[in-house]
Parts: sequence; structure tokens; C-alpha cells
Amino acid sequence: MNHVVVIEDEATVREVLRFHLERAGLTVSAYAAVAEAEDALADADALVLDWMLPGESGLGLLRRLRSHSELRRLPVLMLTARAAEAERVEGLETGADDYLTKPFGAAELVARVRALLRRTQPEQPQQLSNGPLHIDLAAADARLSGQRLSLTRREFDLLTFLTQNAGRVYSRTELLDRVWGADFLGGERTVDQHITQLRSHLGDAPGAPTFLETVRGRGYRMRSWEGEE
Ligand code: CA
Repeated sequence: MNHVVVIEDEATVREVLRFHLERAGLTVSAYAAVAEAEDALADADALVLDWMLPGESGLGLLRRLRSHSELRRLPVLMLTARAAEAERVEGLETGADDYLTKPFGAAELVARVRALLRRTQPEQPQQLSNGPLHIDLAAADARLSGQRLSLTRREFDLLTFLTQNAGRVYSRTELLDRVWGADFLGGERTVDQHITQLRSHLGDAPGAPTFLETVRGRGYRMRSWEGEE
């Protein structure tokens, strides 16, 4: 989940920012001043920062961030009420990644924040491997020792998710959220059924799976073959 910190002193603008970014699926922490936001920044994936703030200005914070070793790369979208050329240049030179002039439209705001998040998050690799299992995401093709597995879309998505996160345990609820999505109305048995199907495709022996392990009381885990022969 992407976490966006917003620092904007005007309450209405702050709530508009929160509303649109949350509706775009982002987690938002919004503050009226730099001093209040300081702790949240360590955990931020992007910062939407107003220029004119009471106390330390947006530009002041930006300057500090860019000299701060850990937050040096935090993507920053500056908000400014003025479209003055000099101010834009000063903001960009200080290290803002982008800026938006008030008033702004919701679609443009969301597009720009998404662009910032994309820039800092490298794309997921299109090929995954785990031992004899190979997945080609673009071609939606999963192979075991070169043999193509005939999977449903959902089986493929579940296998991909678990392979991307090999070695980590996920509960049934987490798998429903991550693979089926929040809109799915079915229950946790659906996960069990899909795991059973995948095990049969992967040739996992009952009680001694090579790939999909049951972790008692916790959920399922794709065994990581990394470092194994
Ligand atoms: Ca302001």
C-alpha cells in the first residue's frame, strides 16, 4: 500500500487532497504543519507539500529533506497558490519532483502523485523463478520443469502472488485481500480449494509439499528455493 503524507494548512484543501488520494486507493496522513508531520515522513512513499505554511515553510522542509540522507529520495509534489516562474524554478531547484498550482483538478492531482510513486518504484520483474517453477507474467504462462501448467486465471494469480513473496506466510484472509480483492464475497474455503488445486498442478504430495506449505494456525507459504539446490 502506498502511503502519501500531505502537509497543507488550509483545512478545506487538505480534506480535498485526502478525499481524492484515498479514493485513488492510497493511504493518506494529512497534517496542517511541518512540525506535526515530521514523524510520519519516515514511513512515506510520497509527500504532497504546500509552499506557504505557518511555521516552517514547505520550501524550508524541502531543503531539509534533500540534505537528509534517509529522506533525500522521498518524492515531493509541491503545491503553490502562485504560478510565478521564479517560484517554480526555486522549488524545482531545491529538489521538488513536480509541482501543482492551486486550484487544481482531482484527476491531475492523482495522476501526478501516481507518476511520482511509479518513478521511485521499479517495475515488478516480468519473469519469476522458484526452483523448477517458472512464471512469465506477460504471457500468463506458468511452467514446472518446462511443462506448461494449465491454470485458471485465479490459480495463476494466486501462484504468482505466492511466488513473488516466497518464504512469507499469508493467512487466508490476507490472500483473499491480495489475490481476490476487497470486493470478493466468498469465504476462506475458496483459498483452501485453490491451494488444493495448485498443489495438484504442482505435484505437491499430501503432507509433504515441495512448494505450497501449510503453516499450522497461520496460513500458507510458498517455499523459497533460493539458495537451495
Ligand atoms: Ca498554505
